[in-house]
Amino acid sequence: MLKVALITGGNSGIGKACACLFAQRGYAVAIAARRMELLDKVKQEIIDEGGEVVAIATDVSVKTEVDQLVAAVLDQWGQIDVLVHSAGIAHSGSVLETDEKLWDETIDINLKGTFLVNQAVLKGMVKQGRGAIVNVASDAGVTGARNLAAYCASKGGVVLLTKAMALDHSKQGVTINALCPGPVETPLTEALSPQEMDLWKSMLPIPRFASAIEVAEAAYFLAHAPYATGSCLVLDGGNTAGGAI
Ligand code: NAD
Repeated sequence: MLKVALITGGNSGIGKACACLFAQRGYAVAIAARRMELLDKVKQEIIDEGGEVVAIATDVSVKTEVDQLVAAVLDQWGQIDVLVHSAGIAHSGSVLETDEKLWDETIDINLKGTFLVNQAVLKGMVKQGRGAIVNVASDAGVTGARNLAAYCASKGGVVLLTKAMALDHSKQGVTINALCPGPVETPLTEALSPQEMDLWKSMLPIPRFASAIEVAEAAYFLAHAPYATGSCLVLDGGNTAGGAI
């Protein structure tokens, strides 16, 4: 039976790991992100492994592009069973170091992008009476983190938007959950200096970063856990147990 997963941010890091994992497990996969060259690379990797995939360049903060993305996936396969919304950005800085442009960009991509993509996909899922949504938030949206003011605000918003949507739509057959990773080895954290990385690792109860595939496995679990909705699964090496970092 056909199963379709839409993975935003599917050309890099956690989203790429999710796309490859869902394809390996029999899903037809649609990957969406801004950079087409990277999307084409991941698309080819999935095809080489025998998977079915389409790649669609999309800016998740632009409603017309999001609506076109979802329409294109529905045109292709007629259904979306799973959404993993992983597209996101991170800028460091306290509130005093965050100018309005950086604030707007972070909220537009991380929070408004989650709203737009979830809204567009939910319409079809509610109509078909089934579906699973996994929004990739962050442990920094659960406890807050130093020097990441706009990012924390955006990811805290993603966690509560997820819970609110779960309350509104779980009786319509759709589960909606947030996945909150701690530090993960992806291009996003490659910007950290080796000293910063060592410091973060030393402060974590499990003193290493997660791999993207570990996070993808958790996303796969959440997408196949029929009694989980409105939950926030923290996968953070123990970071939020005591606010280590
Ligand atoms: P990444 O930089 O490898 O991937 C981010 C993806 O988002 C890329 O595919 C990029 O193209 C896409 N993207 C960014 N802005 C976009 C936009 N406007 N429209 C469409 N796509 C856009 O980083 P990652 O670590 O894989 O991050 C994935 C998600 O996981 C993000 O939401 C991030 O906040 C979250 N996260 C990451 C970590 C970490 O330590 N890496 C920890 C917690 C949460």
